[in-house]
Amino acid sequence: MLHINDNYLKLQASYLFADIAHRISVFQQKHPERELIRMGIGDVTNPLPQACITAFHKAVDEMGAAATFRGYGPEQGYEFLRQAIAEHDFQSRGADIDAGEIFISDGAKCDTGNIQELFAQGARIAVPDPVYPVYVDTNVMAGRTGVWAQGRYQGLIYLDCTAANGYVPELPAEKADLIYLCFPNNPTGATVSREQLGLWVDYAHKHQALILFDAAYEAFIRDERLPHTIYEIPGAREVAIEFRSFSKSAGFTGTRCAYTVVPRDCRAWDAAGREQSLHGLWNRRHSTKFNGVSYPVQRAAEAVYSREGQAQCRALIDGYLENARLIGEALDELGYQHVGGSNSPYIWVACGRDSWEFFDLLLTHAGVVCTPGAGFGRCGEGYVRLSAFNSGENVQKAMERLAGAARMLKA
Ligand code: PLP
Repeated sequence: MLHINDNYLKLQASYLFADIAHRISVFQQKHPERELIRMGIGDVTNPLPQACITAFHKAVDEMGAAATFRGYGPEQGYEFLRQAIAEHDFQSRGADIDAGEIFISDGAKCDTGNIQELFAQGARIAVPDPVYPVYVDTNVMAGRTGVWAQGRYQGLIYLDCTAANGYVPELPAEKADLIYLCFPNNPTGATVSREQLGLWVDYAHKHQALILFDAAYEAFIRDERLPHTIYEIPGAREVAIEFRSFSKSAGFTGTRCAYTVVPRDCRAWDAAGREQSLHGLWNRRHSTKFNGVSYPVQRAAEAVYSREGQAQCRALIDGYLENARLIGEALDELGYQHVGGSNSPYIWVACGRDSWEFFDLLLTHAGVVCTPGAGFGRCGEGYVRLSAFNSGENVQKAMERLAGAARMLKA
């Protein structure tokens, strides 16, 4: 008899987006005349920058001519892209990362999900709450947790992110081996300072632990006091892997390109206590299970680093940040506490009541869709996530509707 991986049975069905879709569909059946504005989505809305499109087209033409056609590329990614990344995203900020430490992939979702394969079954895992669910679910699938009870998986260390700690978790009392951190954060939009990140790097050194640093929203950082990469922190090369993506920085959610940085000094230990190179292990994993991102997509990603590409991406993100600013302003006027939005596309709003209840009221009275915070973890109860990924016109309209429904939304 063939047995399945029983750990899959522990997974909680992800009700969040299915539930949202269901409630929207019920509402629209009852009120077909109402036009909804979706302020909950985590997907970009603007098209690819022109520099990327031009490079993309050119590379497709190359694939159509015998002299320039390319078959399988290097699994780790083409040198031209890895070199551009190393120079622009790291060396220009004084972070000592070279092209050989960069692994191109088709998404930060896959990379943040796959990385746990390198670690022992018994590794103690720490995750933020609220959390990007991939970190949790992939460890459940791998059997590193117990069952789901009272809104959490047994065996995981949850790092509470609350108003009290400014949505930046404190160091855990118990020893964690693998720590997932995400800044600017999804869903809270919170950022981390150099000093705060330095505490985590020190913790990882002290406990021979590793930080998995998800910087998928790095491009939204405008406050230059904030670190853009964990490798700006001294000592991070030995204890941190960083994940980046072109999804939000250049609108690649449907085009697919991302990368992971595994410095050569990054270490963990085998069962005999000998130090092992995580760079070597990830290289082995990547080249065994992945055959590279397509050549035209890598050329399109390379164009992000051209002068025009940089200006166009900045303009793209400036547009989303302006939306976020408008949302923040409207929330201030209505007296809602909120975080995020100034270096992030997400605004985390203390809605003053049960987050699903607020979702329903906002839908009913304003025709605006948000994401209930409870869907991201126990600490998300009492919050909703608003997203700046929308047109300026829609954001303005949504905020006017929010103001119009203010009385109905208050607890
Ligand atoms: N990491 C975080 C925190 C995200 O919010 C997302 C996407 O929403 C991803 C990773 C996934 O990025 P990608 O599109 O590169 O798979």
